[in-house]
Amino acid sequence: MASIELKNFEASKKMKGLMGQYFTELMGPEAKEKKIAWCTSVGPAELLRALGFEVYFPENHGAMLGATRMATDLIPLANARGFSPDICSYLTSDIGSYLKGESPFNKMGLSGPPKADVLVFNTNQCRDVKDWFQFYARQWDVPCIGLHTPRSIGDVDENIVKFVAKQIEELVEPLEKIGGNKLDMDKLKEVINLSRKCTQLWKAVLETAANSPSPITFFDETIQMGPAVVLRGRQDAIDYYEILLAELKQRLADGVGAVEGENYRIYWEGMPIWGKLKNLALQFAELQTAVVASTYCNSWIFDTLDPDKPFEGMARAYSELYICRSDEPKEAYMERMIERYNIDGVLYHNAKTCPNNSNSRYDMPQRLNAKTDIPFVIIDGDLNDLRLYSEEQTRTNIEAFCEQLSQA
Ligand code: SF4
Repeated sequence: MASIELKNFEASKKMKGLMGQYFTELMGPEAKEKKIAWCTSVGPAELLRALGFEVYFPENHGAMLGATRMATDLIPLANARGFSPDICSYLTSDIGSYLKGESPFNKMGLSGPPKADVLVFNTNQCRDVKDWFQFYARQWDVPCIGLHTPRSIGDVDENIVKFVAKQIEELVEPLEKIGGNKLDMDKLKEVINLSRKCTQLWKAVLETAANSPSPITFFDETIQMGPAVVLRGRQDAIDYYEILLAELKQRLADGVGAVEGENYRIYWEGMPIWGKLKNLALQFAELQTAVVASTYCNSWIFDTLDPDKPFEGMARAYSELYICRSDEPKEAYMERMIERYNIDGVLYHNAKTCPNNSNSRYDMPQRLNAKTDIPFVIIDGDLNDLRLYSEEQTRTNIEAFCEQLSQA
């Protein structure tokens, strides 16, 4: 068989420049003058931007440590310090990186993650983010504040929205003191409006994959999602997704699929395996199977952000996330996605160190299969800790699964 090559996007060059510029703003020579807020990936970034903070997202650094495969060597340092090998491997990679003083940012000529003036978490995704931020708060003697969003939410009703919105409002006063700026409500509305536009474009990017052949795969999306995560609320993220979307539309018009000869369409449930993205993308391409949708990449669609109701809109958007919902809404969501993206099979990644984003542990695959008759496979692995991943076993499982699809 001729060797398979993955198709790159022209737009990616622009994204590299954009991300590089963002990292330089945070860690370059001029960053010293700025107030830096660390924020969890689904934390109240809009509020922080409106208050004039530069916003840094350590989960992005965690993913970089995974993708560069530095994580596996760094995790043991955090383990030795007292952070269990069983907890979030973003956390342990990032703290290991701090303890060793090594980061992928060094290769960009940057000193490493910026020191925070304040750390702002949202427990909507897990408790680990708060523990992670508290480590740095103790190291640097800076405040760590945040939102305690309930988890396992059924309906996101008015009580939950009010509860979380009030907590967001209560962040304003301490953040004004730390940042030295008063909150300008017009500025907040403007940032939320930009964030919502970014989210709408990101959604449009992901939805191009509903076409067959799909012009983009999950593996492309895990890279392309960078601006949606770290630059939402800024115009440059919007500009970027307009360019990417135009390229995707061109692929659709030309009938160009991301996977040559796409035969089967897979839904990826759970975290990416950052150190193996390329290997997996190649294997699926060889099997003429496109991974076209995922809960992970869809987690940065915040439809309910509302510039006219800034606090309620943020509260609702950040509490409607898949990860903080109970199994009923999760299943209903998956059913809709399976239909919308014309899915032939679901792959569940059981990530050992992230029970929060592993949904194969409480019978959901079996229930969903009974409802939809769509087959599934569960692969064991991890987002960052490759000691928990068997390449050989995963390859065999994926091959067998695609074989099963061909006989369905
Ligand atoms: S959701 Fe999972 S991967 Fe993300 S910070 Fe929490 S434990 Fe880590």
